[in-house]
Amino acid sequence: MPNIIDELLNKESFTREDLIILLQADAVQRQQIYTKAAAIKEEYVGKKVYFRGLIEFSNICAKNCYYCGIRRGNKKVERYYLTEQEVVDAALYAWKEQYASLVIQAGERSDHTHTRNITSLLRRIHHETNGEMHITLSLGEQSEETLREWFDAGAHRYLLRIEETDQALYRKLHPNDKTHDFTTRLNCLYTLRKIGYQVGTGVMIGLPFQTIENLADDLIFFRDIDIDMAGMGPYIEHEDTPLWEYRDLLLPREERFNLTMKMIALLRIMMKDINIAATTAMQAIDPVGREKALKVGANVTMPNLTPVKYREGYLLYEDKPCVDEEADECKNCLEARIKLSGDDIGYGEWGDSVHFRGRRK
Ligand code: SAH
Ligand code: SF4
Repeated sequence: MPNIIDELLNKESFTREDLIILLQADAVQRQQIYTKAAAIKEEYVGKKVYFRGLIEFSNICAKNCYYCGIRRGNKKVERYYLTEQEVVDAALYAWKEQYASLVIQAGERSDHTHTRNITSLLRRIHHETNGEMHITLSLGEQSEETLREWFDAGAHRYLLRIEETDQALYRKLHPNDKTHDFTTRLNCLYTLRKIGYQVGTGVMIGLPFQTIENLADDLIFFRDIDIDMAGMGPYIEHEDTPLWEYRDLLLPREERFNLTMKMIALLRIMMKDINIAATTAMQAIDPVGREKALKVGANVTMPNLTPVKYREGYLLYEDKPCVDEEADECKNCLEARIKLSGDDIGYGEWGDSVHFRGRRK
């Protein structure tokens, strides 16, 4: 006798109501979702895991998101900004290790000094790696002009999490002002698409006030705007942020982790050929969290290449893992973990989203 979860998993396409049921799957039922997602992953994107070397370029941020440890209002944080040479060195390390892809992430700044620095960096990395290093940016909301300039200088992918698609909840998580406007963030995703970037977005899971219905709507949003890449992770509280006040409303961390696993698996089933990241925040909750994510549908992971002396400065949330490991240790550790989980590593390959390639044809 097929059970309700099996029946839903065999449908062509999920409705909002289906997703609400699936997201509430219990410990036994969720294994059915994971098994289906793993099979789809293997069929559509293969067993390869792509490494993206992550450079946390700067923790200087002009914004004040209520959840984030490096928000402008947190005066306890010592701010840093990597030199161009430090980034180029990390890029060359990644190139030598055949990662073929880099993520440059930072707090949001749109002043000219910063945007020009990024342009110059992109040109240098492009030049010094013979154009072989693909670059993903995760630098927050920017003007169309800036995003075009970066695209022309060699960036091809952009990650901008919508964070939460319910606008009322979005307002609760951000100051209610012009620099934290939901529509501006959404429009930025459309601009990225128009320019030609591979576009990634995502949400945090287990936020205070967030409901299962919100998460179902988030998944539908990803499908509707037809993303190429996704990065989703559990929300993890940070003492020096305004949301700390609501920590008693949170699900236990393990449940936030399980919900994230379900979100990843369901998204893999819904959007078969996109790239999905196994995010660092998963490992903050479970020591093998990233590997678990890879088993249920994720196919990208990001070894940290930020020089170790800066890592303590980039604590978006509590218990962030790998803050004291050199790039080599990070790589070896991840490599061993991925092999254990039965996947192969796509060294020397760009690992473009298959979905993106399909759309361009
Ligand atoms: N400033 C850029 C990129 C850096 S922040 C931006 O905001 O887009 C990268 C991501 O960290 C954010 O998109 C957010 O989803 C995540 N993040 C911030 N605080 C977090 C927390 N407390 N728990 C989990 N993830 C968090
Ligand atoms: Fe800044 Fe990004 Fe943190 Fe918001 S989430 S405060 S934009 S670094």
